[in-house]
Amino acid sequence: MRTEARDRRGSPQAIWKEWDIVDGRRANAMVIILRTVGCWWSRKQGCLMCGYNQAASESGIGEEQLLSQLEAAKLKFQGEEMVKIYTSGSFLDDREVPQSTRKLILEAFSSCQRILFESRPEFVTERSLSDLPVEKVEVALGLESADDLVLGKCINKGFGVSDYERAARLIKGKGMRVRTYLLLKPPYLTERQAMLDTQSSIRFSSRFSDSISVNPVNVQRDTLVESLFRRGDYRPPWLWSLVEVLREGRSATGVRVFSSPSGAGTPRGVHNCGKCDAAVMAAVERFAFSQDQKEFEGLDCECKARWRAQLELQDAMGTSVDVDRHLADGLGLD
Ligand code: SF4
Ligand SMILES: [Zn+2]
Repeated sequence: MRTEARDRRGSPQAIWKEWDIVDGRRANAMVIILRTVGCWWSRKQGCLMCGYNQAASESGIGEEQLLSQLEAAKLKFQGEEMVKIYTSGSFLDDREVPQSTRKLILEAFSSCQRILFESRPEFVTERSLSDLPVEKVEVALGLESADDLVLGKCINKGFGVSDYERAARLIKGKGMRVRTYLLLKPPYLTERQAMLDTQSSIRFSSRFSDSISVNPVNVQRDTLVESLFRRGDYRPPWLWSLVEVLREGRSATGVRVFSSPSGAGTPRGVHNCGKCDAAVMAAVERFAFSQDQKEFEGLDCECKARWRAQLELQDAMGTSVDVDRHLADGLGLD
């Protein structure tokens, strides 16, 4: 068992290839999920929708294990134009990846054009940004919402909007790129409130962002969101809401606004009625690259009227529960 555990710590959690955008062009990308000790905030309290503490937290992962993971990643690298390094936490947190190790990891992919990694704002400092390949780096900041009340009460993010702004300004000031992640439909918001929250967050963060990724909530195991979901008090967002947010966000800001949702089309992910999900998701995927509103033209389904009715009903009832499901189950709404 001990040997197995040691072996696992020396292997990345996952590696895969996908498409992204580099300088406005579609580019191939390699994604590496490094195994680290995990997000410190997740161990302390954690965000309400985040199940990463289950996946990532491991002890005894230091430089040796990280370098062994790097070797495994290098074997898979085929000269992709972009490399995305995720840790289910913060790449810039020394506890997860020491600064000297970060340097070696970044050097290993010096031939690619763009290297993206995620960090919470508190780890974005003069020191952590020093020695980075400025022209290649894109830092992904998970702002989630530009409303401090939503950040505090609906997400428990553990930082405020001003912390994001400070970090984003520092990164931009150094000439590096910022990708902002926003969360569509944290718990306790109605469908319409969630859409409005993400739309205004896109407008706010567009000032500091080279691209904005909208991440609809995906219900993860052993989270508060899952307990709300199980009792019908939470429904992940509709795909129709995502389409509206993307469409409006792009036209209001001109910044690349896109979404690559996980769990799309399933009850735990962003979804519509089941019949139209594949077609709507295909349009969302095309839009991610083309940024052309025409991708959404002609999309329709009988469930669109149900979605609109839900928006009205939740507003009228002043509730964020999954009204549709309660009515269908005949559970009542107490
Ligand atoms: S900051 Fe990110 S990894 Fe950490 S608890 Fe929140 S969502 Fe999870
Ligand atoms: Zn439908």
